[in-house]
Amino acid sequence: MNCFYHSETPAVGICKNCNRGICPSCASELDNGIACKSRCESAVLLINELFARNHKVYEKSAAVHVVLGWAMILFAVPLTVISASSAINGKLSFALMNLILAAGLFFPGYAMLRYAKGLIQKN
Ligand SMILES: [Zn+2]
Ligand SMILES: [Zn+2]
Repeated sequence: MNCFYHSETPAVGICKNCNRGICPSCASELDNGIACKSRCESAVLLINELFARNHKVYEKSAAVHVVLGWAMILFAVPLTVISASSAINGKLSFALMNLILAAGLFFPGYAMLRYAKGLIQKN
């Protein structure tokens, strides 16, 4: 592949914005890729900035998921205890109700923790 702007010169890479092959004299090196000099630089910088911002938002939402996940599990534990003691006391419908509530909190809580952990580890 040759440079899009100089058809005689071999391209050394592809512009991150317009996907054209570009030669060393047309390429402007940026943080994580190259762009056509004075044509695509600002667009690629914008893409980089958006990407960095998304990354931060992901980390923040993962942290929120960890807190919510633990809160749900902490609520589920006493409900499990209540349902167990009600079952022992023969209040079966009350025990069942609390057990359903506990499961309803425990599983989403666990799922949130797993999800957030996966997001954090990917980074
Ligand atoms: Zn370009
Ligand atoms: Zn060129």
